[in-house]
Amino acid sequence: MPEPQHFGHIEGVEVGTVFNSYKELNQKKIHRETQAGITGRAKAGAESIVVKGAYRDDEDYGDYVIYTGAGGRDDRTKRQIADQDINNRFNAALVKSHLEGLPVRVIRGVGTDAPYAPEAGYRYDGIFRVTDHWGKTGEDGFGIVQFRLDKIEIASGLEIRADSSLPWHEGVPQPVAKRATVIQRQIRSSRVTSQVKSLHNYKCQVCHESLKVPGGEYAEGAHIRGLGHPHRGHDVPSNVLCLCPNDHVRFDYGAIYLSRIANKWHVVDAQTQEVVIELRTVRGHTIDPDHVAYHRDLWQRMT
Ligand SMILES: [Zn+2]
Repeated sequence: MPEPQHFGHIEGVEVGTVFNSYKELNQKKIHRETQAGITGRAKAGAESIVVKGAYRDDEDYGDYVIYTGAGGRDDRTKRQIADQDINNRFNAALVKSHLEGLPVRVIRGVGTDAPYAPEAGYRYDGIFRVTDHWGKTGEDGFGIVQFRLDKIEIASGLEIRADSSLPWHEGVPQPVAKRATVIQRQIRSSRVTSQVKSLHNYKCQVCHESLKVPGGEYAEGAHIRGLGHPHRGHDVPSNVLCLCPNDHVRFDYGAIYLSRIANKWHVVDAQTQEVVIELRTVRGHTIDPDHVAYHRDLWQRMT
């Protein structure tokens, strides 16, 4: 069993804490890799990165950083000597974090001349989110992968729940996580929706498509009965569908709903009331008929 991953804040470690070494970062689970700048897995996302000017294309603006991915670098000269690969496990982990909107711990290390670098050691600088990524030719003339990470601001006065059903979002104001589906789409991921998407291998249950992007795959976890007021659905697998963004919007805005016909789930076009396709299902993921009925009642007569 691989060591469990820890996303978000680590309890007991304040933003601004300085550590002497990678070893200390590792002991506190702030950054578990002992040499690499990125801790993470391609299929699960990146937990943390260390910004320390290891790549000359990095840029640090305080509230956001432009961070160069892993690979292709000569450790001695710190120069690129080969192209980077977006499918490299560390880069794919950051792509995953971008796709899923996962929080990433950022640690700044001494060694850059940026004004935000600590005077010594490694400083934990809080939670960031990957907001963009791209490929380009770096200063040394080789292809590099870059990520922009923005610091997540925590508004004052909002409760921060450490033990949340949305574990990725520890440290994010809790009320945000409960808001309507539009916000849900931005937040994108909870442990439950990730689980459902993984069971379906990121294939949409309606159109059967899986949306492939360089470095990963993308799908959305759609709550059948909405989480927020007034629907008060639960974040449990039986209330979640794995959908592509188009079908997620169709489902949330009532263009399609589900119906049980001949003991199988079918997708119905709300306007024509005709069956579009049979819902794709997989073993290990059951759908609660009560939630389906709740959603259908919202939209059945809305044509
Ligand atoms: Zn679809």
